[in-house]
Amino acid sequence: MSATTGGDTPSWEEALEAMQGCAACGLSRHRKNVVIYRGARRPRLLFLGEAPGAQEDESGFPFVGKAGQLLDRAIAELGLPADGYGITNVVMCHPPGNVFDPKAAVACRPWLELKLALLAPEVIVTLGGRALRALEPTSGRPLAEAGRPRSWRGRPLYPMLHPAATFRRRAFRDQWDRDLERLRSMVDQWMPGFLSCSPIPPRGSAPVGSPPSSVAFK
Ligand code: SF4
Repeated sequence: MSATTGGDTPSWEEALEAMQGCAACGLSRHRKNVVIYRGARRPRLLFLGEAPGAQEDESGFPFVGKAGQLLDRAIAELGLPADGYGITNVVMCHPPGNVFDPKAAVACRPWLELKLALLAPEVIVTLGGRALRALEPTSGRPLAEAGRPRSWRGRPLYPMLHPAATFRRRAFRDQWDRDLERLRSMVDQWMPGFLSCSPIPPRGSAPVGSPPSSVAFK
């Protein structure tokens, strides 16, 4: 099976096997692992990032580095149940120098479509401008779009900054915090009862998740 082969929709396991052997673009020559997914098999909420970094390439799982720790903290603060969310990227192989490769995004698009079809999330949260533009090519600058929910293929889509951006500027971190609070209220509207009832704890008091222990599927 290839990303572009038609026919019946494969099982998740068949898709994993096919994705792990993908050589559809040049990034396949540099990777250690195809970084596919971590999270629940049936996530109600899916975080969509841009591309794996070096730590993700080493581990084979998305968002396990510093940005991933911030994302896991956000997930804990939101009160997302472990069996209710998943995390993936637009591109599944680590680009050398962390330079996002638009051609790889095109080559990887059929896999993204397949993951979306098999995971069938009710809500998508994009992390960073490239993730948003993969779904909404005419979207504007990430800072202008962040925190503004919209609809994508009949489901809520909520753009956020990439968590790595929050390390660069205090203003980005403040935006991230505001968007997270808004996401919580939006998810309460979209999926009543999905989040834990506890309020968002003060900054610094939430536990930082351990990505590998939360991995259910790769
Ligand atoms: S980035 Fe995507 S399309 Fe390119 S080799 Fe990796 S899995 Fe295949």
